[in-house]
Amino acid sequence: LITIEDAWELIENHIRLNESDVVPVDCSVGRVVSEPITCEFDSPPFDKSLVDGYAVSEVDVSNATCTVVETVVAGEVAKVALEQGGATRIMTGCPLPKGSVGVVMVEETVDLEDGRVRIQAETFQASQNVLQRGKVIRAGQELISQNQRLRPHDVGALCEFGIQNVQVFKHSSIAVLATGNELVDSATTPAAGQIRNSNGPMLVELVKAVGGQTWNLGIGPDVKNELNQKIKEGLQQQVLLIAGGVSAGIMDLVPQCLKENGVKEIFHKVDLKPGKPLWFGRAESGTLVFGLPGNPISSLVCFKLFVEPLIKRQSGQDGGFLPFENGVLKSDLRFKGNRTTFWPCQAKRLQGRIEVLPLDWKGSADQATYCQANALIRLDGPPNRVQAGDAVSLIWL
Ligand code: AMP
Ligand code: MG
Repeated sequence: LITIEDAWELIENHIRLNESDVVPVDCSVGRVVSEPITCEFDSPPFDKSLVDGYAVSEVDVSNATCTVVETVVAGEVAKVALEQGGATRIMTGCPLPKGSVGVVMVEETVDLEDGRVRIQAETFQASQNVLQRGKVIRAGQELISQNQRLRPHDVGALCEFGIQNVQVFKHSSIAVLATGNELVDSATTPAAGQIRNSNGPMLVELVKAVGGQTWNLGIGPDVKNELNQKIKEGLQQQVLLIAGGVSAGIMDLVPQCLKENGVKEIFHKVDLKPGKPLWFGRAESGTLVFGLPGNPISSLVCFKLFVEPLIKRQSGQDGGFLPFENGVLKSDLRFKGNRTTFWPCQAKRLQGRIEVLPLDWKGSADQATYCQANALIRLDGPPNRVQAGDAVSLIWL
């Protein structure tokens, strides 16, 4: 069995960055920028007042009485240039009149109600309460760097500069196929011996959560012709995920079918629990194929370790293998076998450390316990026992 590190290296060799695409800003949240975005304008575009108050023409205005020459509200531009002894009543965000040195906030003034204002600022300096043109960013400077995943507040900044479209990496296209004669759709009541397809829908959601575009191929039975048909469809996408049919059962036909479709095996089986039967290969077209174990939790672990970082990297996001963090166990845990094991837990960040409570997990068919889990701990046995207070590595779910 190859180690999970070696398996990742074999996968990583096949990562190709997606082409780029142009999307409107209002559809860009979550997308990854494929080239740096620069702004074409200074921000602010003019010297602007940061407060409601009075623009004045001299620094030495403490206790001065000034003549109010004009009032400027939002959306207006001052018409009168300030001269010595004059003041312009100005609102937050307005462009400063010519001749002003700064703005005294209204709270530090008294309106004498005869067209004059008394300044009572204790200290006043040039440029006080003014944001100068270009102080935030200048035309031609980089606003958003390459490979940044756009967030709502980035959209705000893009709109400030009138940017309507952005260049982003294309979504990866991922086909998902669940296989097994026993499977029925989740909305169907299973007959004796049947179970609902839970792995397929879970994989679709996992793909969506990392920004992939999914092609759900539904359920394929353990019948060669029908599997081959579905596989041909799936190979139209960049990545094909097939759940089930890759272990050692007599109905596990997936590796054989993949070979018949020209998909070359790169590895089969990994030193991993759950997830040992994992199959990985590449079609002539370049489509990467994962044969994932049928049990949903085995598939989940394989997805988190291998598929998620692949999809992220294809679409320009950071995605290294196993972004482990260190935690401290809150209770003892025993586990079986000497494969690298991933165990569900509840992890909590507490003042600079992470407390980890392992859950009472019943194995790879146990999805219910995972509903309480938010992380996985990595366990390397033997000895097959860790204790409260031990340091453990974890990845977040
Ligand atoms: P397999 O890898 O095909 O041998 O399947 C291993 C186990 O996972 C079997 O007990 C299957 O019934 C179960 N299983 C396979 N596919 C799915 C699925 N899509 N959803 C839920 N369980 C599955
Ligand atoms: Mg099966």
